[in-house]
Amino acid sequence: MKPRPVSHRMTPILPSWRSLFPVALVAVASLVLPRPGQAQVRWEAVADGYPRTAAEANGFSAHTRHAEMWSYLEALRAMSADMRLGVYGETRQGRQLPYAIFSKPLVSEPWEAMALDRPIVLLAANVHGGERTFREGLMILMRDLATPGTPANALLDRVTVLVAPQINPDGFEASAGGQRGNAWGIDLNRDYVKLEHPTIQGYVQNLIGRWRPHLFVDGHNGGARPYNLNYQCTSHYDAAIELTLICDDEIFPAIDARLGGEGMSAWYYQRGDEQEWNTGGSEVRIGRNYGGMVNSVGILFEAPQQALETGARAGYLGYLAVLEWVVANDDHLVGTVEAARAETVAMGAAPRGQIAVEMEYAAEDEPVDYLLVRGGGFNDPPGTPVDTVHVTGARLMKKPVATRLRDRPWAYLLPRDAEDAVALLRRHGITVEQLTAPASLEVQAYTVSGVQHEEQYNHVAVTRIQVGEVVDRTMDFPVGTYLVPTAQYLGRLAAHMLEVETQDNVVYWNRMDAWVPRPTAGDSEAPLAPIYKLMTPTTLSSRLVGG
Ligand SMILES: [Zn+2]
Repeated sequence: MKPRPVSHRMTPILPSWRSLFPVALVAVASLVLPRPGQAQVRWEAVADGYPRTAAEANGFSAHTRHAEMWSYLEALRAMSADMRLGVYGETRQGRQLPYAIFSKPLVSEPWEAMALDRPIVLLAANVHGGERTFREGLMILMRDLATPGTPANALLDRVTVLVAPQINPDGFEASAGGQRGNAWGIDLNRDYVKLEHPTIQGYVQNLIGRWRPHLFVDGHNGGARPYNLNYQCTSHYDAAIELTLICDDEIFPAIDARLGGEGMSAWYYQRGDEQEWNTGGSEVRIGRNYGGMVNSVGILFEAPQQALETGARAGYLGYLAVLEWVVANDDHLVGTVEAARAETVAMGAAPRGQIAVEMEYAAEDEPVDYLLVRGGGFNDPPGTPVDTVHVTGARLMKKPVATRLRDRPWAYLLPRDAEDAVALLRRHGITVEQLTAPASLEVQAYTVSGVQHEEQYNHVAVTRIQVGEVVDRTMDFPVGTYLVPTAQYLGRLAAHMLEVETQDNVVYWNRMDAWVPRPTAGDSEAPLAPIYKLMTPTTLSSRLVGG
């Protein structure tokens, strides 16, 4: 990895000072700091004839329901020549999933948007059904995007905006407060790799896959007071680090400034104490990390506890700040993303570098300052005193560190009966070929020293292979053997899904259970994991699978 440049948002603290006061807690009651619910909320004027959301109409005493959202979106489309409205999928309970396209000139297909040579941005919310606050702000922003003459609408000369305001309506409608999972109780923000649920399949294939946004934002509820918005970007060792740095050093400060202009504040997701701030999971199955693995800037927004209208406004400003930053930095964003895409293909074509099959978060190089609020939360007994402390010089735990690395191959080889695994790869758009003539090939393989099935979030028994040794073998591969080149746009994701030790691979998600051998006592040689690695470019008779 390249050394990380010092971010302007992280203030270095002198070592001598740190040794005296490793952690400083300063009472800040006298300082001017934003408090939840106290910011003055003012919205842009609504032009004649344009609709209001149900939440606006009821004074933010209740959320906009799914059917009310559809009425609102249709009314908006009927007013605006800068908006199209479509459906990208359907939920388990048959609800239609809307998306809108905003651009000038108005486009309807990805290749039209790409021909405009502008950034493509996807803004989404409510993948967790009970997490609804930013969805309200996003729907209001949709109106401003659709209304000629507004500052938001003016951005559409320079950016194509897609909006998916409600990814999980079944979860939203499941109860008065909504539920996190979908109608089956499954967490859709852990389904980005296994793609078992139609909602996320539709989202990944029809929006992320077809449109290949340069950047996308996923709006949730969570994080920590006193902030109005918590953010986080892709943080994974195998994603291009530039896609993370562009968030930390440029986009997030732009969000801070936009919210600061209305007395609000923003900071990293998720929570901290006096020593360190922790920042959520590194699994690729989570939307923001999937974003980096498919060479987009994947941003998470979280709405901490606050009044609904205040939170909706924070979300509005956060999404708007992203669009404003994109327009002001359009060439820079597109250039950074395209460089990551080109690098992905290049590092597979002449295989180089390594894949982190295990990683963890360590402290970023520079210490950080932040606020902690104790008491006064929804779960605290009434009357608990509210205490705010200013933590300085703490660790920000988000630097991806590889704890096990494997060499990147030129291609992975899968047995010809690995159809389920191939089907999953192809759902993501990963290129797969098939041998049309037998081939004797020198490959790298992993010996299997153990196989375990274990419970994983929403999944009863994933398959985990324990690798013994890395061995070189010359093996005969019959006609029909699958070949997955790493020199492809989705090469980072393909490697993550085909290395058998990661937490999101085709073996782990049970797509190859029938072909995973078990070591038995008395084996003269340990069995091999059924995915082989061709380490050097090789001429082969093969044909692309599918169209
Ligand atoms: Zn969430």
